[in-house]
Amino acid sequence: MTDSTVRVCTLCNKDFDPDAPSTLYAEAGEWLAREVWSDAGELCPLCRENRARLTMMYCQEYYR
Ligand SMILES: [Zn+2]
Repeated sequence: MTDSTVRVCTLCNKDFDPDAPSTLYAEAGEWLAREVWSDAGELCPLCRENRARLTMMYCQEYYR
C-alpha cells in the first residue's frame, strides 16, 4: 500500500483524506492545529471539527 493521500488520524485512528473538502469548523480546527497545537495534517476533519467546537465553547473571549 503506497496510497499517500490517505492518512491516519492521531486522535481516533481512522483513515481520512487530507484533501477532502473541509467545513467551516474543520477549517477553524486546521488553524488551531497550526497555531496552537502544532499537529496540522494529523487529525481527521471530524476531530478538527470537534476541537474547534470545544474551543469556541470554552474560549468565548475570542468571539466577543
Ligand atoms: Zn480523528
